[in-house]
Amino acid sequence: MTEIQGERLKIAIVGAGIAGLSLAVAINALDQDHKIAIDIYESTPELSEIGAGVNVWPRTWCIFEKIGLGESLAPLFDHPPNLEPRVIYEIRKADQKDGFRVMEISKNGGGLRIHRADLQRCLVDHLPLPSHSGTKANSSCTLYLSHRLVDYTYQPSSVLPAKKPVVLHFADKPSRTCDILVGADGIKSTVRQLFLTRLPNAPDYQKCLSPRWSATVAYRSLIEKEMLRRLSPNHRALDHPGIMYVGRYKHAVAYSISGGRYLNIVATIHDKSREGTAWEGPWNSEVSRHELLDQFRGWDEEFQQLLQCIERPTRWALHDMHPLDTFASQRVLLLGDAAHAMLPYQGAGAGAGIEDAYILATLLTHRLTSTSSSPDHLSKLIDIYNCIRVPSAAAMVKSTVTQGALYTLAVPELDEYKEGDHIPFDRLLDVFHTVADNWSWTSSDPEEDRRTAVELLQRSCGQARL
Ligand SMILES: Cc1cc2nc3c(=O)[nH]c(=O)nc-3n(C[C@H](O)[C@H](O)[C@H](O)COP(=O)(O)OP(=O)(O)OC[C@H]3O[C@@H](n4cnc5c(N)ncnc54)[C@H](O)[C@@H]3O)c2cc1C
Repeated sequence: MTEIQGERLKIAIVGAGIAGLSLAVAINALDQDHKIAIDIYESTPELSEIGAGVNVWPRTWCIFEKIGLGESLAPLFDHPPNLEPRVIYEIRKADQKDGFRVMEISKNGGGLRIHRADLQRCLVDHLPLPSHSGTKANSSCTLYLSHRLVDYTYQPSSVLPAKKPVVLHFADKPSRTCDILVGADGIKSTVRQLFLTRLPNAPDYQKCLSPRWSATVAYRSLIEKEMLRRLSPNHRALDHPGIMYVGRYKHAVAYSISGGRYLNIVATIHDKSREGTAWEGPWNSEVSRHELLDQFRGWDEEFQQLLQCIERPTRWALHDMHPLDTFASQRVLLLGDAAHAMLPYQGAGAGAGIEDAYILATLLTHRLTSTSSSPDHLSKLIDIYNCIRVPSAAAMVKSTVTQGALYTLAVPELDEYKEGDHIPFDRLLDVFHTVADNWSWTSSDPEEDRRTAVELLQRSCGQARL
């Protein structure tokens, strides 16, 4: 099809995190008809990413390939992205002086690990911005920094169906308009709050307005492998694809990123006595090494050596959201953590946002969706996005909670034990066989969902023409 003449369908993406950027890249990659204009609005004055690793599963890798990131991203992972069986983690019981190996968990393709800043840079490089002459621009794209969305409204109904009926309001910046607003503004999403309170059955969503604290904190840090090598030349983590240290209500993972330069460490502590309470204070802050070391006193020596290398730990209060039963209505859609913030135990929060982006980009760029699409067509598109993404994200939110309870040996069958106790080996094996089973989806094919979305779109348009 040749380039569509006249105005393009204007998509406003609020939030330039991994999910929002992935949507822009996916739209541009799939927009063969050059019919979409993307405006990205980000509240911060520059794009920055925390210094930490992120796990990408083979399922998400397939999407990266489909949206044209394969060549740039592949060299940044710690192993080639293929489906060979690989170790994800060696599980070690570590809440005692002499820790020991429980089992190894392997899956096809393993877990691909990358520095968040590298992933973000790659996404930004693939935005079709006028300054990126090397990127093929199917869609047009503008990035607006320092634009904090505070509200959205609709053009007065007297002029509907109007072009670009959604009006976006920003703090200290002029208002702008769009055809479709995508809220990719993270777990504290402003768009979600506005969207839910404007639904006809808004009172039903009261508990989904704010994130909920999981009574868990995570300490995160990158450590230089060289530093660990000096302290402990034969440390297991130096040459291992990934280690998970587990104990009652606590666990930690360590894996390599950045070509083996750093080890990414995440250590969680669950405080059962604070379940159901709200977190007070900043969600993340730098804390003393002393605080971190104190939490794991008495743990396995090899794990303590890792902690010794952490110079400036950050502490994150882990929140998730009560699952939503809708991510979209009228011309407003939610994407990524704004739609389904989850706990990090499946290593899949960002991956779920990338899946949202792929499905939504498929629907928006499909030849049946055009600049002159009727509100009726857009509402079908929104129904399909809800139909594909809501159940799978809800299942993922739920399974992260289960997975977290298993990692931290916080399952009812182990209630008789406390931190540091001897737990019979076969009971530990049972727990981690379940963990392994819960990762069976990680190398599944995301194309099935995309095909279903397209079939539903075709069917709904066919019915509309009858
Ligand atoms: C400890 C930890 C470990 C994790 N590990 C993994 C992992 O290994 N693998 C994985 O897949 N996921 C992981 N996750 C989850 C993952 O980090 C998130 O799911 C993902 O980063 C969310 O991306 P997002 O783009 O939806 O939101 P965000 O990254 O929060 O981006 C939202 C953006 O919107 C902007 N914004 C906010 N409000 C406004 C506004 N009003 N107007 C304009 N802009 C606004 C923000 O500045 C930000 O740039 C982990 C999470 C944690 C806490």
